[in-house]
Amino acid sequence: MIVLKTEPEIARMREAGKILAALLTELAGMVQPGITTRDLEEVADRRIREAGAVATFKGQPGMVAYAPPYPAATCISVNEQVIHGIPSDRVLKDGDLVSIDCGVTLRGWIADAAISVIAGHARADVVRLLDTTRRSLMAAIEVATVGRRLGDVSFAVQQQAMAEGFGVVRDFCGHGVGKTLHEDPPIPNYGTPATGPVLRSGMTLAIEPMITLGSPQVKVKRDGWTVVTSDGKPAAHFEHTILVTDGAAEILTPWVL
Ligand code: MG
Ligand code: MG
Repeated sequence: MIVLKTEPEIARMREAGKILAALLTELAGMVQPGITTRDLEEVADRRIREAGAVATFKGQPGMVAYAPPYPAATCISVNEQVIHGIPSDRVLKDGDLVSIDCGVTLRGWIADAAISVIAGHARADVVRLLDTTRRSLMAAIEVATVGRRLGDVSFAVQQQAMAEGFGVVRDFCGHGVGKTLHEDPPIPNYGTPATGPVLRSGMTLAIEPMITLGSPQVKVKRDGWTVVTSDGKPAAHFEHTILVTDGAAEILTPWVL
């Protein structure tokens, strides 16, 4: 069941989204060769606490039975890691592609967003991957208006990514978000136009293209969390939580890169 949010609920999600957007903007500015992914995590954890909010991801149950509850406020995925990378002592190197995903819960309401940035100097093909992934997210948001269908949103992502010859990850997808992190509907990054649920005002959706430079096949590492590309080639991930309105969709997590 897709839950429509009331005005007071939306106001809280908007506030959570502002905290998250400011945080991701700050973290993007920190990414450079020589820092560790844990340095980013520590800032995220501190900023969320300072804002009187809760790190949504901490304690999330794993998707495989043997995975421990998620141990951090952020997921930081480097190069061939697509999503769910766990912050560690890993030192970022020049040219690393760094995807940062984070969730903020404020007074019970959640915002979820992600960005991808490059540490230092980027390869041209990786820059194009990032640009395309980000554009695919914006294309999806553009069609997320009342009366359109979810398949239109999914197709918008797929179309942008495939036009550039990139891979669209199929094993993971976006989702509704609100009082819980993952609500209906699932939002695949591929689909058929004019199919699926009709979008209605008050829906809050986390749209999150995961796009690969090579094959879209992925696998989960032995830690039970980290998702990597099967061919070891880089992947990018961008995400916004949006609100469907009678006009253009409102981006609740307006990070700035
Ligand atoms: Mg996320
Ligand atoms: Mg999400």
